[in-house]
Amino acid sequence: MHIKTLLNYTTKFKGFVFEKINLEQSRNELVVWVVPRKNSKPICSCCELPGGVYDHLNERRFLLPPIWAIKVILAYRMRRVNCRHCDKVVVEQVPWAIGKSPVTKPFATFLAHWTRKISWQDAAKAFNISWDMVASSVIWAVEWGLAHRDLDNITAIGVDEIKYKKGPKYLTLVYQIDKNCRRLIWIGKEHKKKTLLAFFDFIGPHRCKKIEFVCSDMWKPYLSAIAERLNQAVHVLDRFHIVVNLNKAIEKIRRAEVAKLKSEGKPAYLKKSRWLLLKKKSNLRGKQRTRLRELLSMNLRVVKAYLFKEDFDHLWTYNHPNWAGRFIDQWTNDVMRHRSLPELKKFARTIRNHKELILNYFRAKKEFSSGIVEGFNNKAKLTIRRSYGFRSDKIRDTALYHTLGNLPLPLNTHRLS
Ligand SMILES: [Zn+2]
Repeated sequence: MHIKTLLNYTTKFKGFVFEKINLEQSRNELVVWVVPRKNSKPICSCCELPGGVYDHLNERRFLLPPIWAIKVILAYRMRRVNCRHCDKVVVEQVPWAIGKSPVTKPFATFLAHWTRKISWQDAAKAFNISWDMVASSVIWAVEWGLAHRDLDNITAIGVDEIKYKKGPKYLTLVYQIDKNCRRLIWIGKEHKKKTLLAFFDFIGPHRCKKIEFVCSDMWKPYLSAIAERLNQAVHVLDRFHIVVNLNKAIEKIRRAEVAKLKSEGKPAYLKKSRWLLLKKKSNLRGKQRTRLRELLSMNLRVVKAYLFKEDFDHLWTYNHPNWAGRFIDQWTNDVMRHRSLPELKKFARTIRNHKELILNYFRAKKEFSSGIVEGFNNKAKLTIRRSYGFRSDKIRDTALYHTLGNLPLPLNTHRLS
């Protein structure tokens, strides 16, 4: 079999034929010369219409995906088009090139495929090209993917934020969390109301109407943007964030108490007790259990708070919103009676204020929980943390969409894996 047959099988370009092939052993390179098919006219890169040949430029070299660990180079003399539509001489458009990049579309797709499994740095090393070539390939593939993805029929979304870099800089991430399609669909700067409104503008009112469930935390700007634009959807408050807030209240009480014991010259009963009090009781083993039992026998504010926390956990065992609602009423009433626990009372008030949204979690049959959103957000944070090499917002967003967006890839990739 000829190498040409193999090339035509994997990499056919309409209007062009492979002319000759040479293996340059000293450089471990396979050079493939490509020429225009007879009588084919060059395409103007401006208006994309065929035109007459003006002249030929010097040979340009492009990279195809390697075969058998041999670098494959595509060599071609670009034609210039005398375009009568544009009324000027323009370089032709060739089907394999991406702008001025030396990486061909098939190679860029190949790289995009691999960078979902390995880091950009590793891909650059493995395929013996520069990091910039990998980056520009992924950017191209992601742009293609974003332009070709299907955003119709989204019925459930999750909204979350990530803190980015130092200081109060945030990103708002919107995920589709439908059972059959879970992916990152949008990235916005900051976490303001207008950030989320921009997302709703982006998908448009028609798609907004199809959304039945929204999952978010208690961040007010999000709540108000969702109330304004998605009033038909069931807004589910995120279980994870509720638990986080409760744990924050407990931790505040514990710290205050540690300080109080110290100032009164009492023994440091609460030393290293943070995780003991925040973890679920059922997750504690041996010594930890004994310590917890000792702690619970003391007359401390944090002990009372801890017992309330353990009790609150029952909420998640209910299946019916009515029963869950009654539980919330009772639990918050009990907390409100304890004058010594202002931190927990504050949490109880928040729960009361958002009761309907919390009950939506049960109305949605617990299907759209924070677990999905949280899982995505952890992956997003990981992607950003790994991104010390990412030099711009565009590259950061590209990496996020590439890892989490489940975007379609430009070419048929069945031969790439
Ligand atoms: Zn033109």
